[in-house]
Amino acid sequence: MNIAVVANTAKKSVDVAKELKEKLVAAGFILETEKPDVVITIGGDGTLLNAFHTYVDRIDLVRFIGVHTGHLGFYTDWRDYELDLLVKSLKEEVSKGVYYPLLDVKLTYSDTEETKHFLALNEATVKNLDKTMVAEVYIKDELFETFRGDGLSVSTPTGSTAYSKSIGGAVIHPRVNAIQLNEVASINNRVYRSLGSPMIIAKDEWIRLELKKGDNYQLHVDHFVIPQENLSSMTLKISDKRIQFASYRHTHFWRRVNDAFIGES
Ligand code: NAP
Ligand code: MN
Repeated sequence: MNIAVVANTAKKSVDVAKELKEKLVAAGFILETEKPDVVITIGGDGTLLNAFHTYVDRIDLVRFIGVHTGHLGFYTDWRDYELDLLVKSLKEEVSKGVYYPLLDVKLTYSDTEETKHFLALNEATVKNLDKTMVAEVYIKDELFETFRGDGLSVSTPTGSTAYSKSIGGAVIHPRVNAIQLNEVASINNRVYRSLGSPMIIAKDEWIRLELKKGDNYQLHVDHFVIPQENLSSMTLKISDKRIQFASYRHTHFWRRVNDAFIGES
């Protein structure tokens, strides 16, 4: 089994990564950053998010494990003092992994036939920061509404505790195979009207946003921000691909939600 260990730049994470690498080598594992079977991240949810994008082209072939050096995260189950147990679990391959949905993002442009594709682990957000964004929202190719406001965001279930939550989205259990559309500061008055509440889209449905031509948009895909000229539409659906976590022990989802946002259990 080839293992990549990826840490953020915090001193604690760097130290933990060094210690873990030594333990993995001593246990007979091969450290391999090009084509790993398992990617272990040390840091926070952001570190896992980064690693996901590093290995997104091999997403069918890798399993992820998150070790957190700060607070308990949503993608990070393991504590930094549990490295021996983690190595032992990997050696014994005791339990099966869990799979979480990913978001497929397809972009089309007004000046080229070429399309672009992205996979997001948390969400994709489109905004027009210069002026009111106007977008026709289609669900399964049927016009649902015309949105006016700052932007629209579509998140995965595991992304529902990230940006989506900050803009009023529901927290969704990751076993629910669905995506969520959220508005960012919609204009709602007697003239302009959009739903005004989050929408949860089933797995056989998709969302298409038809954007006003000639405007400059900002596309956010997880932690990336990508300026978009001549963007004309975005199609968002649950990807056929999923992310696999090597879950040798699994923290109850609502326990994590409590720990992250309430902290009383
Ligand atoms: P960041 O600015 O460090 O992340 C912002 C916070 O979001 C961090 O506390 C991060 O946790 C947390 N986070 C990331 N994914 C999460 C998830 N699935 N569930 C709950 N919390 C999560 O940037 P980053 O670490 O690269 O993460 C990028 C993500 O941050 C974006 O995908 C977006 O969802 C989120 N974000 C949120 C806002 C907002 O709420 N207003 C604004 C910008 C970005 P860690 O500290 O463990 O990394
Ligand atoms: Mn972060």
